Amino acid sequence: MKVITRFPPSPTGHLHVGGARTALFNWLFARHYHGKFILRIEDTDRLRSKQEYVEGIIEGLKWLGLHWDEGPYYQSQRMEIYKRHIERLLAEGKAYYCYCTPEELEKKRKEAMAKGQKPRYDGTCRNRNLPPKPGAVIRFKSNLVGETAVNDLIHGPIIFNNSELDDWIIQRSDGTPTYNFVVVVDDATMGITHVIRGDDHINNTPKQIQLYEALGYAPPAFAHVPMILGPDKTKLSKRHGAASVLEYREMGFLPEALINFLARLGWSYGDQEIFSLQELIEKFDISRIGKSAAVFNQEKLLWLNAHYIKQTPNEKLAELLKPFLERKGYPSTSTDYIIKVIQTLKTRAKTLLEMAEMADFYFLEEPIYDSKAVQKFLVPQIKPALKEMLHTIKGMSALDEAQLEQAFKRIVEKYALKPRNFAQAIRVTLTGRTVSPGLFEVMTVLGKEKVTKRFERILEKIKE
Ligand code: GLU
Repeated sequence: MKVITRFPPSPTGHLHVGGARTALFNWLFARHYHGKFILRIEDTDRLRSKQEYVEGIIEGLKWLGLHWDEGPYYQSQRMEIYKRHIERLLAEGKAYYCYCTPEELEKKRKEAMAKGQKPRYDGTCRNRNLPPKPGAVIRFKSNLVGETAVNDLIHGPIIFNNSELDDWIIQRSDGTPTYNFVVVVDDATMGITHVIRGDDHINNTPKQIQLYEALGYAPPAFAHVPMILGPDKTKLSKRHGAASVLEYREMGFLPEALINFLARLGWSYGDQEIFSLQELIEKFDISRIGKSAAVFNQEKLLWLNAHYIKQTPNEKLAELLKPFLERKGYPSTSTDYIIKVIQTLKTRAKTLLEMAEMADFYFLEEPIYDSKAVQKFLVPQIKPALKEMLHTIKGMSALDEAQLEQAFKRIVEKYALKPRNFAQAIRVTLTGRTVSPGLFEVMTVLGKEKVTKRFERILEKIKE
């Protein structure tokens, strides 16, 4: 099957979860069928479109790994093409100039509303054969009788009554073409075979289908994907903690996790949750997109991220973690050291940011001591045991987990300590807190010098 899909964001905001999912579905569908995926920037709204959003969207797509085969095309650079199509429609009597003023239209709109009718253009200029005039709009002569069927690949056939439509504007009074017009011209001239988009566009589709017919183009197949809801079942928004794709990167999510998460928002394959990108390409099909709205679940995203952190080789994690360590302001260290640190944290941290936070004591000269923990565990009774531990450590040529454990056990016995209390005392000494990776692991990663220093500093502070 020949497949050409597209992702056509309007650069009036950031690339958010919904847009990224649409891009992913189009991308996966194209990859599955060895087709083409096109990026098109829908920047006809000059007032609201911003270059920084274009750049952000492109960066977000690249970060996710959704590479496009063609584009980015910019609608703002395709005005000639739109003009040609409008002229053709005018010449064939399929579009016409309309002189109705906004005031007149507003008056008619109010009258219709007062009568409880849907406001619709009443066709005043439809058969007047008006010549061009500055400030006039151009309307498409819709077919207002019969029905238009959208054979949606997700929802099945959706039948629209043409009497619901009206002669909609294809060119505004300032000479710019409108969204429903340019999208059809672009999709047709770019050879798009499948339009996969949010179902908020479903009501545009009958208009667009009529336009394809008027222009003599075969319409593509349509698949309208149900929207994404927040946990409270209202349309997903920032309120629900949903962020832009690049914000997820800043929060320390891996692109693999976000891709996996997005794929499962509305698409499923049995009850499988974890998919590699390759597997998604193999398994993705529109027929497996659900008909009902998907619910955004932040916990699941965290769970997936934790999974992918565990899966990622330490060397790669180190490169990904470095910017987070830098942003925390930690002194720089060798990559080898970072790799050892990661090994102790990769099963604990759900995000790279969390990992950087958990790792503070590995990088800071002095740990940030939790004063409650200090008070509770670094008590005078523990001092002799800590002293002896330090002494033993000093006697080791290098720190070794098994040897450290032996020493720990011997001292616990000798001083008749509760193992947990002694462990916590050492933990607080080394990390400043009561929760950390395994004690002996921490010590070997920190190394003899740092461990010794921290013991000495604490021993000075504990009163006998
Ligand atoms: N620019 C439109 C949007 O961002 C695209 C609609 C479409 O896919 O046709 O919603």
